[in-house]
Amino acid sequence: MAKFTEKAGSERILEEREDRNDKVFILRNIVEIRIPKHEFEKLSKKYDKEYIISNYENKRILNRITGRELVFVTKESGIPLLGHSAFGIIDRGTNLLQVRCISGCNLNCIFCSVDEGRKSKTRKTDYIVDPDYMLDELKKIIDFKGEGVEVHIDGQGEPALYPYLEYFVGEVSKIKKVSIISMQTNGIPLNEQRISEMEGKMTRINLSISAVTEETAKKLYGAYPLKRVLEIAEIIANSKIDLLIAPVWVPGYNDDEIPKIIEFALEIGAGKKFPPLGIQKYIPYRFGRKVGKSMTFREFYEKLRILEKEYGVKLVLRPEDFGIEKRPSVENPFKKGEICYGRIVAEGRMYGEKLCVAKNRSVAVISDKKIGDIVKFEVIRNEDGIIVGREI
Ligand code: SF4
Repeated sequence: MAKFTEKAGSERILEEREDRNDKVFILRNIVEIRIPKHEFEKLSKKYDKEYIISNYENKRILNRITGRELVFVTKESGIPLLGHSAFGIIDRGTNLLQVRCISGCNLNCIFCSVDEGRKSKTRKTDYIVDPDYMLDELKKIIDFKGEGVEVHIDGQGEPALYPYLEYFVGEVSKIKKVSIISMQTNGIPLNEQRISEMEGKMTRINLSISAVTEETAKKLYGAYPLKRVLEIAEIIANSKIDLLIAPVWVPGYNDDEIPKIIEFALEIGAGKKFPPLGIQKYIPYRFGRKVGKSMTFREFYEKLRILEKEYGVKLVLRPEDFGIEKRPSVENPFKKGEICYGRIVAEGRMYGEKLCVAKNRSVAVISDKKIGDIVKFEVIRNEDGIIVGREI
């Protein structure tokens, strides 16, 4: 397994092109490296391109899908994997650990809770975590959690864009204390080969499908390969991996689709061991996309109960349906309101934010300071081990 480091030149170059200003290299389908053309031409007289990619300091590294700056989170970068909501490991005090290997999405859903995709107005930076670094840190937390851990691969974006997904899943499946590996996906980056590589290792795929008719899909997603997603659903259902179809119910947009999605899920045989459907309520979040009115929880569950009776399928789900139980959380070194100092190590996920390291945690700090600066901040949010600060 080639190490995913800042020395990106050791990675396989998939594509190479030039535009007006830059020489562009695409690595592993997701990492776009840009070097000014005149600089590249000068350097290429002396060095080969792998060497230039590795060593040229002013290269720009972008997420090819979103066009945003892409930060490599490696052991050597000194960026901790706890504390941030866009990458790393999230421990919400149960036997389930959320693992976020990459941020950024190939879609731009109108209901996206994290305002993802190329059209995002709030997200400025993406992150990608070295798989071996993630594995090392994950093992430490799993050891603390004990037996029967679920590793759930999700993220602020599309987790299957992670070019190391199959390797990562394979390695996680060797950890004895892990009983379930699950992931969230919109399905588009998957194919038969990727799915079959994960068979026998991945336990369940939660596939988000919020429309099964072209017209509604267009309204919710814009450009969307509906047929392909439905095919992916069938491939998963016919594999050893369990399939849970997870639509977001957006009132006024896909009300008529929900029964059709239930029928589709039942028809293709979703839910071998787990429930076949995990219908989610659209919730407008502060930094997410807003689209019309949302239902109250009461209204939502009432509607689900009616559909449960009609289709004879479980739709109102509880954590216990997935074997999730409470477990002690990894110690949190911060308190809300506390004043701390930290070092800015990278650009922040959102505009106006910086990625800061303090007390061995990654902290999103609202600050205009520069990378390398020390920042004094107040902890303004500290929930489930995710820490947000504001410079003071
Ligand atoms: S809702 Fe999910 S699939 Fe849609 S844009 Fe957001 S992260 Fe991507």
